[in-house]
This record gives sequence, C-alpha cells and structure tokens, in this order.
Amino acid sequence: MLCPLGRLSTPSARLRRSQAGSADCVQSKLLPGKEAVKLSSEPLIAPSHPIARLPGEWEACVVGWGEPAYRGRQIFDWIHRQGVLDPGEMTNLPKSLRQRLEDEGVGWPMQVVSVHESSDGTKKLLVAMPDGERVETVLLPQIDDAHVVTQCISSQVGCAMGCVFCASGVAGLKRQMTDAEIVAQVLLGRRQLTPDQRIRNVVFMGMGEPLHNYEAVARALVLLTHPAGIDLSKRRVTVSTSGLVRQIDRLGRDFHGQVQLAISLHAVRDADRSRIMPVNRKHGLEELTDALRRYPLSKRQRITIEYTLIEGVNDSIRDAAEMVELLRGIPVKVNLIPMNRISASELRAPSGGHVTRFQEELTRRGLSVFIRKTRGDDVAAACGQLAFHGESRRSATHRGSA
Ligand code: SAH
Ligand code: SF4
Repeated sequence: MLCPLGRLSTPSARLRRSQAGSADCVQSKLLPGKEAVKLSSEPLIAPSHPIARLPGEWEACVVGWGEPAYRGRQIFDWIHRQGVLDPGEMTNLPKSLRQRLEDEGVGWPMQVVSVHESSDGTKKLLVAMPDGERVETVLLPQIDDAHVVTQCISSQVGCAMGCVFCASGVAGLKRQMTDAEIVAQVLLGRRQLTPDQRIRNVVFMGMGEPLHNYEAVARALVLLTHPAGIDLSKRRVTVSTSGLVRQIDRLGRDFHGQVQLAISLHAVRDADRSRIMPVNRKHGLEELTDALRRYPLSKRQRITIEYTLIEGVNDSIRDAAEMVELLRGIPVKVNLIPMNRISASELRAPSGGHVTRFQEELTRRGLSVFIRKTRGDDVAAACGQLAFHGESRRSATHRGSA
C-alpha cells in the first residue's frame, strides 16, 4: 500500500521515494497523516528522506514497526522542534527504536563545511550534500534587533532560468534540492544562533528558482510551518520567483495565499525583461501581472516586488513611471536592489544618487518602496546573488542584499 500522503506524479518523485528509507516503513500499513495536509491541487509527494516525514507519517511508520503512535510524534519533535537528528541522542525513545531509526538513515542530509561571520552579524553557511554538491544559506540578524533573524535558503543547486545578471543563472541547473535538504538548512541555521536569537523569517532567495522545484518546496513549506515543529508563521516564509505563472497559481491554491510571495520583476517592458530574464519569453508581463491579481492575498498582505537596478537597462525615470502603471491595482511593496556585480557580466548598479532618484519617483507616484541594504559584504554573504569563485562551481557563495 502506498503512503497516503505520497501520491507520486513524476519519475523523479518515484526515484526520491525509493531513496526515502526502509521500504517497509514507506510501503506497509500506513495510517493517514493526522495533520491532513490540505494542498488543494495535488497531494504532497512522498518524503525524500526520513527527516522530511510529517508527524502522521512518522506515526504510520512506528505503528508499522509495532510501536505506539505517540512515538512517531516524539521523533518528529526531536528532529524539527529540538533539532536533534542523531537517534542516539533521542533519549526518551527505547533503544530498539533508536537503532531502527539509525537503520532507516535518520541523520543529517547535509553538513556545514564552513561558517563565515560578517562584521554586521550576517553569517554565511556553506553546506555540502552527500553527492558533493554545495549550496549556501545565510543568517541575517535584523539591523535594529539582532535577536530576530531572517534566514535565506536555497532550493536548487544552480538555476535553470538563465537570468543574465545572476551567477546561479549563468551557472545553470546542476540538480534539484530535496525537501529534506531544503528544511535541513533551517535546522542547521538554528544551531548557529545565540540562545537569545530566533529565526522568524525564512526567504527562498538563495540559489535556485523555488517554483521550479515545486513539490519539494511545497513539502518543505509544510514542514517549516508545522506547529509541532519549527512552527514558522506562513506569512513569514517568502517564496521568491522569477515568474513561473502556473506554479504561482498552485502556490496560491495550496497555501491559500498565506505564504508570502515575492516576484523578481527587474524590467517593466516585455522586450527589456525578455533580454535579461529568459522566463519572460514564455510568461510575459501581462500573464505575470494577471497571476498576481489572482493570488489569494489576505486583506493586509502585499506581494513583494523585487527590482534589481541595473545601470542603463532598467533604471530610467520612464521605467519607474511604467512600473507604477504595470502594478496598478495589485497590493505591492517594492524592494529596490542595486545590482551586485558578477564576474560573468559587465552589468552593474547605477550610482547611489540614481537609486535614490528612482525610489523617489516611485514613491511620488504612490508605491511603497524600500532600498535593500547590502549585508554581509565582507564575507561575500547574503541573498540575491550567487557568485562562483575560482574555477570550481562547487564553491558557490552568496553576495548581495536582504
Ligand atoms: N530564483 C528566485 C529566488 C532567488 S534569487 C528569483 O529569482 O526570484 C533572489 C533575488 O536576488 C531575486 O530577486 C534575484 O533576481 C536577485 N538577484 C539575482 N542576482 C542578483 C544580482 N547580481 N544583484 C542583485 N540581485 C540579484
Ligand atoms: Fe534563477 Fe532567480 Fe537567479 Fe533568475 S534570479 S537565474 S530565477 S536564481
């Protein structure tokens, strides 16, 4: 019998399920998950790895092993609330069950390779996965209250979308990240905090296009916001996309508009946007803005518009005026990001004065606009841009702003 939460729709999902741990746990007598994951489009795919199981899935597993259901909830608590992934440390479980979890492969799906702390408190973690691929995740303490931390996470190794100003786009897609790898970034991030700090926001603004890895990201969103686990508020989890229209609709349906949506706009005319963001050739601005109008936002919520300012490309006063027209009627806030240089391109940010003039023009026309400060520059850290240093693509690092 298949896992009730695990209808498999794609060959890669089937592959992932076959790697998910012991077959008898995933395939034998499973109970329906108690949390009843209500994704309205399709059921969640099966977890790729034991640490991506939900409490109900753990209950089903342990019952299949002849243990009482509450043991499943205890395991979920250890992993997601307490951040303990070594079964040997799960002290309230019987020894035989701890051994079973070892055999199942419960443990970290990735390791921290290095941690670089910037003078502004930003911490960049380089993490390695078992196949040797590496991604980065960045912890950004709030400027006016360092106890509150935003974590920027990656969703793919590289990116297929090919945006010309972005190092991940230039590098291309190496592979998808699994649900477990996406969530483990936050579990590892929490271990870097001081006791008085906590992660309040998670943004999918690291490497990759999250909506091009929808199924893994959807399970990760359910896990990150699960009240028995990490328990982030859905509104404090931001999915940033270059504009994959069908998946924007799906995200809206599956999470009832509660997940915060950020759109990388970066140009306001189709010809300009298609030049710098190939995705626009498939889904033009009209299609994209229609999807934003459909996104089921609750009353006080707004969509974040990210706009990377590139000198001579998208930074004219006419661009500002047309942006206001393009976004008319959509509840938005605009984040201007002066472009961070990447070695593969001559493109660069306009001067600081010009960025301010662009902001003023938008504000004068009624938009609420923020300029994202570059953070963690001295450790080449932060979200938004991934730079590949040296000859090895494996040494990807974030630079940019958050
Ligand atoms: N793929 C998703 C999320 C990751 S990128 C997306 O594109 O939305 C996060 C943000 O950083 C995006 O707005 C992206 O366009 C921006 N970004 C990428 N490269 C950048 C660069 N060199 N300078 C400034 N912002 C950049
Ligand atoms: Fe991919 Fe986003 Fe970079 Fe575009 S900006 S290449 S979508 S990571």
